[in-house]
Amino acid sequence: MKRVGAHVSASGGVENAPLNAQKIGARAFALFTKNQRQWVAKPLTAKSIDAFQANLERIGIEPRHVLPHDSYLINLGHPDPEALAKSRDAFLDEMRRCEQLGLTLLNFHPGSHLNQVSEEQSLDTVAESINRALEQTAGVTAVIENTAGQGSNLGYRFEHLAQIIDRVEDKDRVGICIDTCHTFVSGYDLRTAEACAATFAELDRVVGCHYLRGMHLNDSKPDLGARVDRHHSLGEGKLGWEVFRFIMNDPRFEEIPMVLETIDDTIWDREIAQLYALVDD
Ligand SMILES: [Zn+2]
Ligand SMILES: [Zn+2]
Repeated sequence: MKRVGAHVSASGGVENAPLNAQKIGARAFALFTKNQRQWVAKPLTAKSIDAFQANLERIGIEPRHVLPHDSYLINLGHPDPEALAKSRDAFLDEMRRCEQLGLTLLNFHPGSHLNQVSEEQSLDTVAESINRALEQTAGVTAVIENTAGQGSNLGYRFEHLAQIIDRVEDKDRVGICIDTCHTFVSGYDLRTAEACAATFAELDRVVGCHYLRGMHLNDSKPDLGARVDRHHSLGEGKLGWEVFRFIMNDPRFEEIPMVLETIDDTIWDREIAQLYALVDD
């Protein structure tokens, strides 16, 4: 079965996220387990954790179909040792929050070299950061998202994901999340079924589709290869519907959380229904 949802609000407490997912007809969802624009967050309370798990069970979504996203402040490839340590601490805290909630995935962007070190070197730092976090936690998989390649951000080539995974020791607890907008603006075409087949064949060859732990389903405002990260509602941007028809009918995307990060949250329910309607009988 395909599992589609959206990155829903956890405002007022993580326990509200499952309820927000239910309102839009989601079979999967993403959330921030803390304020994504602040370094430090209050620990999750036992009450909040219990309510989250009870609500998850009530709406019938399994923990493996929830794809938490980490804070945008974290840079696991930071060239400065002090700043890197701060990011690693924050990432470990994010992993622990997932552990506490009984969740099995944590989605994050690889990081940025900030034009101070080579991509190669920064990617190695990212891998080392992941190794350290995995050593100190259990049961949570580090899910690396491909990026638009804006500024000095890493992760805009499938080779970047492959290099990180290659250097991660516990291969069972590392995976990837492919964002359709990021893929397209970083230069991989997805506008036709043929282009999708070629791009995902390339992903399979370079990284391996068995590492897929999630998808982000977004249309794109910028054009192919623009290296600018601007999402759009499905069918409204430069991608169009073909890529979503392709994904909804390809067995490689079964049973992984597929999350909308599209710009108009008032139509998420409709977008989810439209995606399910694309599945061929
Ligand atoms: Zn992301
Ligand atoms: Zn994304």
